[in-house]
Amino acid sequence: MKLLDGKLTSEQIKEELAQEVAILKSQNKRAPHLAAVLVGTDGASLTYVNSKVKSCEKIGFGSTLIQLEETVSENELLKVIEDLNNNPVIDGFIVQLPLPKHIDDQKVLMTINPDKDVDGFHPTNFGRMALELPAFIPATPYGILELLERYQIETSGKNVVVIGRSHIVGRPMSILLSQKRTVGDATVTLAHSKTRNLTSLTKQADIIVAALGIAEFLKGDMVKDGVVIIDVGITRINDTSKKSGFRLAGDVHFESVAAKASYITPVPGGVGPMTIAMLLKNTLLAYHRK
Ligand code: NAP
Repeated sequence: MKLLDGKLTSEQIKEELAQEVAILKSQNKRAPHLAAVLVGTDGASLTYVNSKVKSCEKIGFGSTLIQLEETVSENELLKVIEDLNNNPVIDGFIVQLPLPKHIDDQKVLMTINPDKDVDGFHPTNFGRMALELPAFIPATPYGILELLERYQIETSGKNVVVIGRSHIVGRPMSILLSQKRTVGDATVTLAHSKTRNLTSLTKQADIIVAALGIAEFLKGDMVKDGVVIIDVGITRINDTSKKSGFRLAGDVHFESVAAKASYITPVPGGVGPMTIAMLLKNTLLAYHRK
């Protein structure tokens, strides 16, 4: 079994991006700039946004964090988004999900200028991605493609099972892996909560992408020998032995599945850091497209 080391790979990608920024600066050009909007004080969201901002600083990107009260109205949030759309210094921005219940996610995402939508959640980008046109690919599936490519894992003709059909992970992942592309040409099954006999599908899979958000769901007796495992899940589990009071668990029961897998992503240190690296890559892309 080999680890698909997302932490190491993401560091390599960030180093490549830092070199590009250094070249831009040596040409007296401004650096790319990413903004993040965070509504409320949810601990996990704050951690994710902070690590995105910190990564920007590390590679020489400009960054702006806009923190809004949990009680902010939808109209106020939409106004912040319009300002970011019109700000020439901001190349790309994200609105950290989930949003409070009184705010309509879809309305918010639709308001983002697709040219600055570095999360790739706007219908224009999603549609362009599905049609194999230039687009911002959502950062998590993009990170998984990059990880598979850099570890030279063959996907062509392979049976892939993606578990979870969310708009930000499972569904785009299933579309991308089924496309004619370097990491693609796979035969993809997209499973969800209504899927029957999931184990009969996962047992035939050469590659499994687990993105359902149930800690340690996929067990060793559900997979075949030699399977490649991509664990997207991140669940906080209470753990009093940790200083933080919790540990992070993936959607895969690591011990039993790793014993059969040829490659597997750890949690943490797998897909998570790749997601951040690809968000930065999308920001550089937005900068160049301007
Ligand atoms: P989500 O929107 O909650 O979607 C979960 C999906 O899993 C749904 O499609 C659901 O099916 C399916 N599902 C639920 N129970 C199932 C079961 N027993 N069997 C098969 N499918 C089942 O989740 P998400 O936003 O995609 O996130 C999934 C996980 O990835 C979470 O732990 C999240 O924290 C993590 N995540 C990690 C990253 C990263 O960077 N590493 C990025 C994003 C998300 P239905 O559609 O039928 O309800």
